[in-house]
Amino acid sequence: MFPVVVVHGGASMVPSERSDNFTLGVCSAARAGYAVLRGGGSSMDAVVEAVSQLENDPTFNAGCGSVLNIKGEVEMDAIVMDGKTLASGAVSAVRNIANPVQLAKLVMDKTSHTCLTAEGANRFARSMGVPEVPSESLITELTRMRWTKKREASAKPVESQLEKMGTVGAVAVDSEGNVACATSTGGMLNKMEGRVGDTPCIGSGGYADNQVGAVSTTGYGEAIMKVTLARLILFHMEQGQSVEAASDLGLAYMASRVDGLGGVVTVDRQGHWTARFSTPNMSWAAAQKDTLHYGLRPGDDLTQSID
Ligand code: ASP
Repeated sequence: MFPVVVVHGGASMVPSERSDNFTLGVCSAARAGYAVLRGGGSSMDAVVEAVSQLENDPTFNAGCGSVLNIKGEVEMDAIVMDGKTLASGAVSAVRNIANPVQLAKLVMDKTSHTCLTAEGANRFARSMGVPEVPSESLITELTRMRWTKKREASAKPVESQLEKMGTVGAVAVDSEGNVACATSTGGMLNKMEGRVGDTPCIGSGGYADNQVGAVSTTGYGEAIMKVTLARLILFHMEQGQSVEAASDLGLAYMASRVDGLGGVVTVDRQGHWTARFSTPNMSWAAAQKDTLHYGLRPGDDLTQSID
């Protein structure tokens, strides 16, 4: 069994002038997660490290760079899950936090609950000494511009799904065979205030179980929740499907049953991995056996070596 970390930077349509930013961001996050694994760290520490990096990168819809809700504000969701114990922690509709994924891990580690929301989550952050950051530090020129533009645009169902999405996530298997997942998002552009998507919901935004594997999802949250996409994919793996076939079956079911587009990164307990999506693009990168694999378009599998 070879340790592996796989990250995604959201299922969507990436404009060609921004594709390098997406690719560089996921490659650097996968390298950071892999450095944790190579140093003997746990799969949980690897996914939190990788996702924190993606939250700090303004390219992605999570942490700094989160899309704005209808009121022009940032509200974020995040989850972590530990496949050894099935312990999970999540935050939803949280504001003014640079790294919601780290707060989700504190919910898992320091409370008897699995999800804290809105002001309660922020109060918990304060009690844990997690600094609050100004709203403006999470907003970029681009997210402000997209918000203004979108408020004026008419809504076409498929295009509107693609234009509003993005999320970051990671799955990993460590040298002890423990799996973990982490997912973090600003949600959907122009969402209602207080809207909570799939990301912080166990089985939807992610799931990790040492007996099967781990999944982190991205895509149209309302559809992902209807089919509990992460758990559905693990169910197919329990029935003997490979990581690729199970991921494709889950995504195809979501498309046919509830018209939802999305993407996933999936690992099994043996360290097999895949990145699959039904949108035109999903930036992803995987690090295993000192090799980095990455891509953005269907069929991509570019490689670099990791020294
Ligand atoms: N799933 C996220 C949400 O609906 C968005 C995304 O992954 O693009 O909040």
